[in-house]
Order: sequence, then C-alpha cells, then structure tokens
Amino acid sequence: MTDLRELLGVRPGHLRLAAIDTRATPGVPDRRAVNDDPKAWSREQVAAIGQDLSAYQEKLYASAKEGAADRRVLLILQAMDCGGKDGTVSNVFHGVNPAGVRVVSFGPPTAEERKHDFLWRIKLALPQPGYLGVFNRSHYEDVLVVRVHQLVPEEVWSKRYDVINAFERELVDDGLTVVKVMLHISREEQQKRLLARLDDPTKRWKYNPGDLAERARWQDYQQAYEDALNRCSTPAAPWYVVPADRKWYRNWAVATLLRQALAGIDPQYPKPDFDVAAEREKVVAAA
Ligand code: AMP
Ligand code: MG
Repeated sequence: MTDLRELLGVRPGHLRLAAIDTRATPGVPDRRAVNDDPKAWSREQVAAIGQDLSAYQEKLYASAKEGAADRRVLLILQAMDCGGKDGTVSNVFHGVNPAGVRVVSFGPPTAEERKHDFLWRIKLALPQPGYLGVFNRSHYEDVLVVRVHQLVPEEVWSKRYDVINAFERELVDDGLTVVKVMLHISREEQQKRLLARLDDPTKRWKYNPGDLAERARWQDYQQAYEDALNRCSTPAAPWYVVPADRKWYRNWAVATLLRQALAGIDPQYPKPDFDVAAEREKVVAAA
C-alpha cells in the first residue's frame, strides 16, 4: 500500500483543489473487500484503528507523566460548511479513551479573544503532553473566513501565513506532532448535505441560514484554502487534502493519517523508577 501521507500530502505551491476528485478514494488497500460493502469495511477498519489510537494515547500519556516526555498530537480539521468535521471527530475517536482526547471548536472570536493576537486563543487550547488534541477549525480561519470577508485589511491577513509557519515550527520543535487535514467536498455535495439538514428534523439544528451567504462565496473560499494550504504545508507541519464526499473514505483516511503520526512517535511505557520485586513484597506484606 502506498503511504497515504504521500498520496494526500500537499506539495507547497502545487495544490489545485479543482484538480482533486472529491469522490476519489486514494490509498484504499483492498479494493475487492471495499467494493463489496465500503461502509462496512470502513466501519471495521476505523474501529480497529481506534483501538490502536487508544493504545498509543495511553502510552503517550504514561511516557509524559512527570515530565518524562513532552510529546503530544494535534489534529487540525478544516473544511467548507458541511464538510464533515463533526462526523469525522465522532467516528475517528469513537473507540478512544475520552480522558485522553481534547476537542476544541473555534467559532467567531469572543470580545475577550478579539483583544488579543489571533494565536492567543489557539495557544490556550493546545493539547498538554500525553494528550490527543483536535481542533475543529483553527488559526487557519484567520486566513480563510477573515480573508474572504475582509474582516481585517489585506496587509494584516497576508502576513499571517509566515506567522503561522513560524508558530507551528516552534510547536513541532517543542514536541507537538500536528496532522493538518482539509476535508474536501464538492459544491454539489454541500448542497446535498444542506438539504439533508433541512429535511431531517434531527439535523435541522445544524442548519444556519447564514451558510448560504458563505456558499455564494464558494470560489473565494476555494482560493483562500488553496493559498493557505500551498503556503503553510511545510516539512514540519504538512497539510493533507482528504477527498470527503464519501464519508466512509474520509473516516478511514483521517484515522489512518493519525495512526501513522502516532506510529512515528512510537511512544513507550516508561521504565519503573522503583524496584518492582521489592514493591511487590511490600504490597503482599501490607495485607
Ligand atoms: P460552526 O463550525 O458551524 O460552528 O461555525 C463556526 C463559525 O465560526 C464559522 O462560520 C466560522 O467561519 C466562524 N469562525 C471561526 N473562526 C473565526 C475567526 N477567527 N474569525 C471569524 N469567524 C470565525
Ligand atoms: Mg456551521
């Protein structure tokens, strides 16, 4: 199987979103098993990967205890509206110990947040050593929605790409492994999902009439995404574009990218700093 990171990784300066088929399923290992029942195949795979993620996270936590190691992992999810960020989180982390995961969603900055630099709230939300962090939206909104709506002048947002690269570089040097994923859906798929939100009473709460105004700016957003990904996919913190019209593929791909990141860290249980046999005798004697 080709490494998914190679298939989905953004080569800086080379990405064209329009050239990516949002229904594609690159890197799926066993075409025949998948073709039979892709959803069942994915459910099984993602469940198994979830168990691996959970085991890795426990080791990450154990190794980080008492400052022995400073490794932590951050998944950044970005997408157009209806891109599937929430669904990805609930599926990929389904089998992971919730004590080890911290999910943070970023909406429009509060009055307090607006008093600070755009990275202020991001820094406060970073995972501690030993944890898996998930950002549902992120500092990238400050070069996406902020740029599309000109919420700050161009001379301000245009400087942020370099600021973001330097910021992420520092985090990586400090023990953070970051997995940056754009869930890439088509305009048609977004319409389908908007309609599903209206038609299904249990999804209606997710519908926001304002989403249509954003949809009208589809091209501006695609351009902003393309620039962000081309400028901020760095060796230390690469971007991945996951074709996301098919939810079963999206879940499998994100889970797989995360597992690869943790396998790269390969966290280990720490060696005990006490004499196990002696402690054992003491516990027995303390009956
Ligand atoms: P949702 O993910 O549906 O809860 O929507 C969150 C909203 O917050 C989206 O419309 C984002 O564009 C908006 N948002 C997130 N970050 C920022 C930001 N830094 N500035 C302005 N709007 C933001
Ligand atoms: Mg929304």
